[in-house]
Amino acid sequence: MVVNLSEQHSLVSNWVSELRDINIQQDRMRFRHNLERIAEIAAYEISKVLPFEEKEVETPLGTATCKVLKDQPVLATILRAGLPMHNGLLNYFDKADNAFAAAYRKHEKDGTFEISLEYMSCPDLEDRIIIISDPMLATGASLVKTIHFLKEEGPPREIHVVCAIACTVGIEYVKREAPSVTIWCGGIDEELTAKGYIVPGLGDAGDLAFGSKAQN
Ligand code: URA
Repeated sequence: MVVNLSEQHSLVSNWVSELRDINIQQDRMRFRHNLERIAEIAAYEISKVLPFEEKEVETPLGTATCKVLKDQPVLATILRAGLPMHNGLLNYFDKADNAFAAAYRKHEKDGTFEISLEYMSCPDLEDRIIIISDPMLATGASLVKTIHFLKEEGPPREIHVVCAIACTVGIEYVKREAPSVTIWCGGIDEELTAKGYIVPGLGDAGDLAFGSKAQN
């Protein structure tokens, strides 16, 4: 299932437009903050489909029956571009456990690339609800590789993916390889360059959030 958070008018599409804007992108702090805010809204929307239970809470004047989250999710992110969205999810799911994957595109001289997953830190994922942040769902290769790895550490109960922009190619790949996953995105683009960049997209989310890196 795919939920496009910009389908209805809301501040999410405002923030996505700022993420895309080549002039506003010069402000790195604003770029990170907008990613974080989109993830916060996604966290709120995801919370509506998570299991809740009733809890008696003592107030100074009596007892209130409150509905509270039944299970804490595991928030997973793909380094490094996922970090601002991860932080946004953590702002809302403040008691969550966390998982980190270091997946990157290992480029060959002919311009092709393979996904290298070299580091993973995660708790036991059996029967857990996992929410993965990956701001740009482009080919879907690194996301699917990460999902397969996380599934081996479980099996988890359900997996949600939060991204700022998803490309239809990546969405189709995730649907094929991990059909039970729900994707929550801030916008959907149709085109992908030969180098795997989303068009119109926004550019390199990791570089825009944290600065460019040496390509060796
Ligand atoms: N990662 C990015 O940061 N941008 C894209 O367009 C695709 C992948």
